Amino acid sequence: MSATVIDGKAVARTVRERLAREVAELPEPPGLATVLVGDDPASAIYVSSKRKQCAQAGMRDLHQHLPGDISQAKLAVIIDHLNADPAVTGILLQLPLPEHLDAAELVARIDPDKDVDGLTTISAGRLAQGGPGLRPCTPSGVIELLDAYEIPIEGAHAVVVGRSELVGKPQAQLLLQRNATVTICHSRTRDVDAECRRADILVAAAGIPRLVGASAVKPGATVIDVGIHRTDSGLCGDVDFDAVREVAGAITPVPGGVGPMTIAMLLKNTVTAART
Ligand code: NAP
Repeated sequence: MSATVIDGKAVARTVRERLAREVAELPEPPGLATVLVGDDPASAIYVSSKRKQCAQAGMRDLHQHLPGDISQAKLAVIIDHLNADPAVTGILLQLPLPEHLDAAELVARIDPDKDVDGLTTISAGRLAQGGPGLRPCTPSGVIELLDAYEIPIEGAHAVVVGRSELVGKPQAQLLLQRNATVTICHSRTRDVDAECRRADILVAAAGIPRLVGASAVKPGATVIDVGIHRTDSGLCGDVDFDAVREVAGAITPVPGGVGPMTIAMLLKNTVTAART
């Protein structure tokens, strides 16, 4: 039997509608400062979607477009100003930055209470310790999808393929926080397929097109595909969707699965930041 296809677009829309209602009830609209350095076309498209959805949810769009040759010191001062500005609830520094800039140092400068991407070391520490804080958007979106489809996390065996700071590690921690038993696979894992076959919930975030095939999936498992790749035949993920959907119980498509959740979670973090 073919798997339930998890509709990330629909879940993201529901989250955005809920957030718009929450924003309307706040005394002041939250303000999201997106910071775009230079003219990288892909980054410009991402930032423009974030700004549009932020405005549609009733938040203030406090965008800053900065020249690609801006110095480290000048950008640091701009981040300091955004940290100090009470109208700015959330700060998003669009990555990657031009090569002459030290992105890690600049991200570290963002006030953790305004770190709506959840990427500062303090946000990572708060997550690791299970305390309140802003969580990275893509892995939080995965949890939101699992909840929307009432897929039990507690007690499930979750396997996360990938251990990046952006996706894999925070994903594993979020699943652990929800009482899953978590295995993390990476490029040195001896037998990734064998690990994956033990998963009730399999999250693929390795950045390798169609890495996860049908033989790596336990019948009935939930398969969440974080990967996104442009190929000659269109977009695909880290999962071989057509083959795996015949084995899995539920599966996210690419596009239209995890992708739409990322911006929805950014908006959620901005509302959370406004409340703290
Ligand atoms: P990344 O930084 O390149 O990390 C990839 C991870 O996968 C690394 O931990 C790596 O292991 C592991 N890996 C590589 N080859 C592997 C293999 N053969 N078997 C098992 N693990 C392997 O990538 P990322 O930033 O986490 O992103 C992962 C994917 O998600 C990419 O396709 C990216 O485009 C996509 N993405 C999508 C969204 C979205 O909104 N949908 C957001 C972010 C990322 P090592 O640590 O050992 O090198």
